[in-house]
Amino acid sequence: FNVPTPTNEPVLNYGPRSVERAALTAALQEGRAKQTDIPMYIGSEQVRTGKTLEIRPPHDHKHILATYHEGDAEHVHAAIKAALDAKEAWENMPWEDRAAIFLKAADLLAGSYRAKINAATMLGQSKNAYQAEIDAACEFIDFLRFNAHYMTEIYAQQPTSGKGIWNRVEFRPLEGFIFAITPFNFTAIAGNLCASAAMMGNVVVWKPAPTQIYAANVIMEVFIEAGLPAGVINLIYTDGPVAGDIIFSHPDFAGLHFTGSTGVFQNLWKTIGTNIDKYKTYPRIVGETGGKDFVLAHPSANVDVLNVALLRGAFEYQGQKCSAASRAYIPKSLWPALKEKLQAEMATFKVGPVEDFENFINAVIDERSFDKLAKYIDAAVVDPSVEVVAGGTYDKSQGWFINPTVLKVEDPHYVTMCDELFGPVLTLFVYEDAEFSNVMDIIDTTSKYALTGSIISQDRYAIAEATYRLRNAAGNFYVNDKPTGAVVGQQPFGGARGSGTNDKAGSMQNLLRWVSPRTIKETF
Ligand code: GLU
Repeated sequence: FNVPTPTNEPVLNYGPRSVERAALTAALQEGRAKQTDIPMYIGSEQVRTGKTLEIRPPHDHKHILATYHEGDAEHVHAAIKAALDAKEAWENMPWEDRAAIFLKAADLLAGSYRAKINAATMLGQSKNAYQAEIDAACEFIDFLRFNAHYMTEIYAQQPTSGKGIWNRVEFRPLEGFIFAITPFNFTAIAGNLCASAAMMGNVVVWKPAPTQIYAANVIMEVFIEAGLPAGVINLIYTDGPVAGDIIFSHPDFAGLHFTGSTGVFQNLWKTIGTNIDKYKTYPRIVGETGGKDFVLAHPSANVDVLNVALLRGAFEYQGQKCSAASRAYIPKSLWPALKEKLQAEMATFKVGPVEDFENFINAVIDERSFDKLAKYIDAAVVDPSVEVVAGGTYDKSQGWFINPTVLKVEDPHYVTMCDELFGPVLTLFVYEDAEFSNVMDIIDTTSKYALTGSIISQDRYAIAEATYRLRNAAGNFYVNDKPTGAVVGQQPFGGARGSGTNDKAGSMQNLLRWVSPRTIKETF
């Protein structure tokens, strides 16, 4: 028997006067008023070191939302020990009981914790209500439910046996502990990087991005309330290099589950390589990293479909999805109509704090990101080869607000066509209609990344050609849609090249990385 295939968690509507909006508004007010004091979670202890740092909403950087307790080397050692101490009991727990914990966590997120986790994601990461709902509620719930189902599908995969012989495969957890490093941009990803490895019987040391600690604390509360035994997931806030030095030289380090920047991931991989003879086992390295995701419009494209794909793909959550559309290739014949629609629609965008549900665009995550984006924008605005189609301005007086910006460039290799900006900046290159085929070569070779991409076209030959020619340029390829918004169980998510190991989050393939199968042959 197994965990049946779930259905995707329905997305709730936070429209004016809805009960959902009222509950979420109350949770936002409570979160703002409370100033939570956030501990680390090591074994059964909530650890408060007294070395506190502040968390401020990116859209309101004068307000102190919470404080958290920073750890040092001692806490990294303690977290590894707590994980290893919990390992035997956890890996021997029947899979039904492990599944039940995460299925209960999914139900808590769908019910009593829904407003709290969404509010935490809105306040801490500056996501609007809709973006929080599809992430912290729906995607996180889906990850937990689908992974419980995929786990049982994996366990059911058994070899054949013969007369007098019984062959079986035991899907053992890895020998050691897993290190999860999680990003700020998705609460669901943070929860999943820990939960998927733990579901397969592994123990985890978890270090979130400092800009995500506010929601990480709620994730931990949910796991604990769902019955997760102490030590299975240990949440620490220790400086990256300090934690890394200890973890990557530990003999029981067995795997890295990472989402974050390409540069950091490559450095961690090198460190693991340098230390390879220290480990009991070859560590599993699973990472989702950067993206420079494209939208390619064919001359046959429906301009309204194209417009929506660009605007939603580039600007939802301020373009801070690894999958965000950040470069687009538009045929000359469509440009005048598209430009008019883009500008008209963008003139209606409201920019501001998340507490006002009318604001579509909120702040970027922190000052570092703001400064980086401002620098690219400043250079573009004064560059005679760049036309600022929309935006090009920013304001940091209240929060880290970058106004949604569209740049049109003459050179398809202009810096914002190649670099990952991770913000609300879309760069367009307008090509001669007859050059459609050559544009695909440019797309394929312009960036080192290969995460997501879209073709917008009503011509089936063009769709077929792009699907074939761009097969290595994106791990998730969309036809007549935006390149963001992969749904668990529907579009397994991940990319190759500089974008990661492509182990498809929320899939059986990802879960298989967290087991080391043992084949047992028994002769009667
Ligand atoms: N899965 C998300 C999407 O399809 C993106 C995840 C990420 O940003 O890492 O939009």
